[in-house]
Amino acid sequence: VGELRDRETFELALKAAERSACQVACMFIDLDRFKAVNDSLGHDIGDELLRTVASRLRAAVRDEDTVARMGGDEFVIVLPNLRHSEDAAKVAQKLLDALMPGVTLEGHEVIVTASLGISVFPDDASDVHDLLRNADAAMYEAKSAGRNTFYFYTSDMNQRALEALSMENALRRALARREFELHYQPKIDIASGAAIGAEALIRWRHPEKGLISPGVFIPIAEERGLITAIGHWVIEEAARQLALWSRTPLRSLPVAVNLSSIQFHQKDFVEHIARVIETNDVSASWLELELTESIIMRDAEGTIRVLTRLHDMGLLLSIDDFGTGYSSLSYLRRFPIDKIKIDQSFVREMFDDDDTARIVSGIIGLAKSLKHKVVAEGVETAQQLELLRAQGCDEAQGYLFSPALAPAALETWVQQRTLTTAITRDPRAAKTTFP
Ligand code: C2E
Ligand code: MG
Ligand code: MG
Repeated sequence: VGELRDRETFELALKAAERSACQVACMFIDLDRFKAVNDSLGHDIGDELLRTVASRLRAAVRDEDTVARMGGDEFVIVLPNLRHSEDAAKVAQKLLDALMPGVTLEGHEVIVTASLGISVFPDDASDVHDLLRNADAAMYEAKSAGRNTFYFYTSDMNQRALEALSMENALRRALARREFELHYQPKIDIASGAAIGAEALIRWRHPEKGLISPGVFIPIAEERGLITAIGHWVIEEAARQLALWSRTPLRSLPVAVNLSSIQFHQKDFVEHIARVIETNDVSASWLELELTESIIMRDAEGTIRVLTRLHDMGLLLSIDDFGTGYSSLSYLRRFPIDKIKIDQSFVREMFDDDDTARIVSGIIGLAKSLKHKVVAEGVETAQQLELLRAQGCDEAQGYLFSPALAPAALETWVQQRTLTTAITRDPRAAKTTFP
């Protein structure tokens, strides 16, 4: 496997194909989640894995095909003399299959999958540069489609790739220009009605487009390697805000932040949190981390170690969007978590369908038996709240109470809330929240 010094070979292949009226396929291969392997098992093991991948790829193609490493965990394969573009699909599937068997590295069984994009000469591009660019765009499409798959390039992919690229650049600028904001959505204790915490939700105040929601830019930030920087900012900003609030009636109102998988699986994740807590002089118990099932079930043993350290430091830990991913119940028992958040889709459909209502009460039962608190997300109606209360749900969050608010608006909201709950419900509950 050479570097793509083989560019010349590639160019020659295109010339030959032109003469013989053949096609040439260019495949861009990117390993899925290679960074996580590299970070968790170390660079030597990462390199060994790359060598195994390279030899598997080499063995799966013909001698006349070129396999080149582009650097990092990216490979390019050139298939000259292609009769039909469908043949490229067969080779692509063969390559993905060849990668599938587990690789044992120093006693760790690692499964590698890859995402693969294909562009074909002369239909998709007429030179090496454009073929590579288009195969790369198709590879991103395969990644977004859920990885371990391949995509052929289409012209609208270029449009999307350009948009993603300009979004990536805009996100980099946004970090430098401090265009992100955290808004805070209160969480309510169902029994007392008091505010007992808030979830920090990131917003991007774009100079021209206004407020952009995380659903739009977080996936791109994850795909383009910007999520760790953004995630760091979120934790730092939340801690800074907690420090400010510690001198107001909102003191000790815990703030939850959402984490991305790549961010959580960074080697120095715990150290970063510890540093931020220390520099801002806040208590670890004011900070809650929301993790999804897919974050914690990936490398569950490693997750237990990390969560245990965070738990010992005093952070609150919760599982977000519970019920939408896959959880191993035996692991669920072993994670030192405090709360389970029922995904808002279940809450939304609780009255439309009996099965969903049963799922909700099942999740509440499961959480209780594991001695975790249960939070319902996306509560929009009093009717939903009543049913959740009847089923024993502990906390609720949703538009029924409030959307996410800018910090100053949350302060006003909480102060009013404390007053109303003090009048209409047990005043001690409000007192314990705001000593
Ligand atoms: P999530 O953590 O499950 O957050 C809940 C989402 O539901 C928020 O959307 C919130 O505004 C919305 N929501 C709250 N109450 C209701 C309701 O009653 N009805 C409806 N229909 N929706 C409600 P948002 O702020 O757009 O965030 C979407 C997702 O983006 C979050 O889902 C989270 O996964 C992600 N996200 C937000 N902030 C961050 C962040 O700082 N870092 C990372 N990695 N992800 C974030
Ligand atoms: Mg959340
Ligand atoms: Mg959620």
